[in-house]
Formats: sequence, C-alpha cells, structure tokens
Amino acid sequence: MTDTKSSPAPSKLEKENPASVIIIGAGFAGLGMAIRLQQAGVTDIVILERANDVGGTWRDNQYPGAACDIPSNLYSYSFAPNPDWSRSFSGSGEILDYIHHLMKEFQLQRYVRCGKNVVDVIFDEKSALWKATTSEGEVFTGRAAVMAQGPLSNAGFPDIDGIEDFKGHKIHSARWDHDYDFRGKKVAVIGTGASAIQIIPELVKEVDHLTVFQRTPGWVMPRPDFETPDWNKKLFRKMPAAQAALRQVLFLAHESMALAVIWSSPLTRLAERLGRWHLRNQVKDKWLRRQLSPSYRIGCKRVLVSNEYYPALQRKNCKLITWPMYKISHKGIRTVEGVEHQFDCIVFATGFEVSNAGTPFPVKGLGGRLLDDEWSGGAQAYKSINVAGYPNLFFMFGPNSGPGHNSALVYMESQLDYAVKGIKKILDGDLRTLDVKPKAQTQHNNAIQKRLAKTNWNSGCMSWYLTADGFNATMYPGFATQYANQMKTFEEDDYMVVPAA
Ligand code: NAP
Repeated sequence: MTDTKSSPAPSKLEKENPASVIIIGAGFAGLGMAIRLQQAGVTDIVILERANDVGGTWRDNQYPGAACDIPSNLYSYSFAPNPDWSRSFSGSGEILDYIHHLMKEFQLQRYVRCGKNVVDVIFDEKSALWKATTSEGEVFTGRAAVMAQGPLSNAGFPDIDGIEDFKGHKIHSARWDHDYDFRGKKVAVIGTGASAIQIIPELVKEVDHLTVFQRTPGWVMPRPDFETPDWNKKLFRKMPAAQAALRQVLFLAHESMALAVIWSSPLTRLAERLGRWHLRNQVKDKWLRRQLSPSYRIGCKRVLVSNEYYPALQRKNCKLITWPMYKISHKGIRTVEGVEHQFDCIVFATGFEVSNAGTPFPVKGLGGRLLDDEWSGGAQAYKSINVAGYPNLFFMFGPNSGPGHNSALVYMESQLDYAVKGIKKILDGDLRTLDVKPKAQTQHNNAIQKRLAKTNWNSGCMSWYLTADGFNATMYPGFATQYANQMKTFEEDDYMVVPAA
C-alpha cells in the first residue's frame, strides 16, 4: 500500500505558478483523470483531496460487508486491469487496495495534496485561471479544472424529528465507527438501500438484537459471487486478452440489463419475476414476503443484489419494522403506532446529501455567475461534462451521467478521455477559454429530459436520482455504449473558443 497520507505543502513557486490542471478529489475519477492526462503528456497537475488519503467513496465506505455490486473485472479501469481480484464481486478493502495500486503504478503521489478541503472554485476572468481556495486559505490555480469530488461524498443524516435527542451511539454507513463494539448491543438500522443490505447480514452476526426500519422495500436480485480460482488469476496474468474478453462479456451482459432496468419492456417483467422468485425462494413467511415486496417497477430505484440480505432478516435476533417512524427519542425510535423501540446504537444507512447544486462548494463562472443558482431548478450540462459560462471546467459524474445497469467506471473512462481532448485543446492551442455554447447545452438537455420521461426512473417512485420536484439530473437515459459514443467526438462547433491574447 502506498503512503498517501503525507502530502508536501506546495512550494512558493507552485503557489505562484498555475498548474496546467487542478483536479478536485482523489477518488477513482480524480486519479483516473491524472493517469489519462499523464498518458497524454500533461504532467503539470495538482489533485486536491480533503481527506488524508485517496480513495473517495471506497475510502469512506468501509462498513462491514461493503462491496461493489458490479463485477470487479468491470468495476476497474480497462487501462489498468487487475488479474488478482479475489472474487467476482470484491469487497471495499480490495477495491481501495486497487486504488492504492494505481497510485503506485502510475506514480500519482507527486500530484496529490491531501488535507486540502476546497471551499470555493472561482474563474478569474483577468488571468483566465480557475482558482480553488481551501479552508485554510491556500489558493491553487489551474488553466483547466476538473471537478472529481464525487456525487455521493457527503454522508447525510436524515431529517427525522428528535435525531439530536438520541443518547445512544449514532453511526452513518459512510463514516463507520470501527471502534464501536456491537457485541451484546441492541442496534437499529434505518434504511434498506444498497448500503443497508450489505451491512445487515454482517451486523446481525455480532449484535444481541438487530431491528431494521424499512420505509420502501427494494427489488433484490441474486448475486453470482464466486471466489476466483488461482488458475484463473494465472491465466489473466499470462494472457491479459482473456481478461479483456471477460470484461467485454460482462459489459455486454450488463448492457442487455438496460432493457429491463431503464425502460419498461418484456425484460422488465422477466427481471421482476426473477426478483419475486428470489424473495419466494429465500423467504417462506407470507407476511414477511408481503412486507418485502416492492410496489414499484424494477429499476425505478437502484436494483439491489444480495444472497445474504433476506436470510439475515429471518435470523432469530433480527426484526423488520415497516411502521413509519414518528420520531427519534433519547432512548430509541418511536413508530407511528405508539411503540418505542429502545437501542444502544442506531446505524443510519440513509444515503447521502445530494444537493440540487451538485457541488458541495460554490463554483463561480463568467460574470460571477453561481452554479448553485443556475442549477437550483436541477443541474444540467453539455454531455454531462461542460457547463456554459464555466469555461475550461470539466465535470466528472456531472449531470445525467449516472448508470443504472452498468459499471460507473465505463462511463467514467469516456468522461476522462473527453476531458483530456478538451484540456489538450486548451493547453496545446494556447486558448484563453473553451466554453460550451448555451444553445448546444440546451439542445442536449432537452433531448435528455425527453428521453428520461420514458424511463423507469421517472415512473413514480422516489429515489436520490430525483430532486424533491421530481427532476432527474442524475441518470443517463440510454445504453453505456450510447453514452460512450457521444463522448468519442469533441464537437468543436458546439464550443466558443477564445485564443490567448
Ligand atoms: P440510498 O440508496 O439512498 O438508501 C437510503 C435508505 O434509507 C433507503 O432505504 C431510504 O428509504 C432510507 N431512508 C432515507 N431517509 C429516510 C428517512 N428519513 N426515514 C426512513 N428511511 C429513510 O442510500 P445508500 O444505500 O447509501 O446507497 C446510495 C447509493 O450509493 C446507491 O444507490 C449506490 O449508487 C451507491 N452504493 C453502491 C454500492 C455498490 O455496491 N456499488 C453499495 C452501497 C451504495 P426510501 O427507499 O424509502 O427512500
């Protein structure tokens, strides 16, 4: 594992001379960006990371059972395959090791500045530089900037009445307390989403009693998780083409799932039948089955995959509560029918703060315009990556780039390569600004929203994909292949280009 914890302070020279590119966030996106830029010959890079280590969501989400629900051979970079994945679906520790391995293999440590909490990002029109200011008042400047802070980086406690009154221990899934001893404790888990269904099977083995508070049941599918045999690892090491072929098979298998998950089709019905079969197969009690049966279309919320979740709920020391919560008291949780459930600890597997603004800090563009204001009705961008009025700025996982059926890293690779093209144009062409035309952005978004209206995500359930008003600024309404194809060409006509004076 690389030592990523100490980062040298920027020298005076670094502070005064702009980097070619500043990248905010050292998770998969930020590090991937640095790798692709480096491979394209751009090495004057600074990566600002607020934590003391790299890894983003995989550094933060270290709760028991944390794993990726996309196969590891697909949830990794195609330009940095790992022949040694221990399982088909690797755990978060192994994914974090992979990220540390990227640091080493591509010598990224030289770019990373840890402990730099960015508080605002402003385009300085005089110098045509992006300026990122940290909470300690340091300013980093770059000719181009990449927002790679991740959409799910702020753990959010839910707005439940009385949450501050609880006298026991509170833990958020994305800020796990590894020092807390669960043995002999009465514990509640609030939430039954992607994080919760991984935590519950592990926690139930440790605690005296576990109570799970469910608001909406998810669609849970079986997970084909296997240990990777040694011969397989050897084969991948000797013949990288074999691993690339497996990746392609996994990619195509996931692409076909778009037909079930994104749109309503006969495949959607088939997937729902599989989900119902999985439930019937694992849960014999009719009443519990009814409580766990979703009443919305599969794909509307994120599809969950687990072989352990349903069995965990049926352990003697586990109880599912579906009564809505009324409030949190100092001893536990009161449900609307008037019962107070008392706990030593409440685990909040309640998701993240996904603001309308899409960025956790102010971003100011041309003429002092504030992204927060412009996106208050819902975020939008051109091809998810550029926003008119914010020249030379590139968003990773920007508006409408989210996948519901395939690996996020496939989408990410397209974004990285697109951003490299844009940044190279700015640097090699000595441009002052490269700014997408508002008309191109509007046309792109009108088309996206039209297509979204026909998807399962917009079919009536609530999820973090939608704003409170039901606007979907999160998901891409199409196949990963379509997303990648649109990112292959950099349509210069869609941009306003201002050469350096
Ligand atoms: P989530 O999907 O937003 O789920 C949050 C859960 O908490 C839901 O069950 C929600 O109920 C419940 N909840 C939230 N506020 C509540 C309240 N006030 N009262 C009662 N219940 C409340 O969050 P997550 O599970 O952390 O997952 C977030 C995203 O992270 C996922 O969609 C996925 O993209 C990613 N993730 C990925 C993996 C992976 O394996 N790759 C693993 C974990 C997470 P409702 O459904 O009723 O809103």
